[in-house]
Amino acid sequence: MATIIWGTMTRTKSFGIKGDKMKCWQCHREYSPNLLREAEYFHINYIPISHHKDQDVYNTICPICGFRDHIQQYRATEMIGQPVSKEVQDISYLAVQKAKNLYDFVALDNLTKEQILIAENVKYGKIKGAVRYRGGKPKDIIKVV
Ligand SMILES: [Zn+2]
Repeated sequence: MATIIWGTMTRTKSFGIKGDKMKCWQCHREYSPNLLREAEYFHINYIPISHHKDQDVYNTICPICGFRDHIQQYRATEMIGQPVSKEVQDISYLAVQKAKNLYDFVALDNLTKEQILIAENVKYGKIKGAVRYRGGKPKDIIKVV
């Protein structure tokens, strides 16, 4: 007889950079954030069975410092329909090599040409995760050696 496991599991979805620019409470910079949804599912053997949309939790992630803030569901729904063009916001992420596997993690604002140091002496794998968390794609990270 097979074992049956059931319970709840949380799945996180990133919608990417969305909505109007908002001032970050932590770094005080003004950018459109990455929008994240956490949805709780009831599962049987890790196969999602049911999901209550009204219990979804939405968060905005500052694309610079990664500060996470809760946002109301109706606001998130508006933001999903509001993509941000490269003319409005264009950030590249840089990994500037300092030692064998240590990098400085830098955000480059392609519009203002400002370079913003996010973290010093971190491993490349950490930067990949941090870029994904900020709504970027790890394949777009620019390695500076
Ligand atoms: Zn921030």
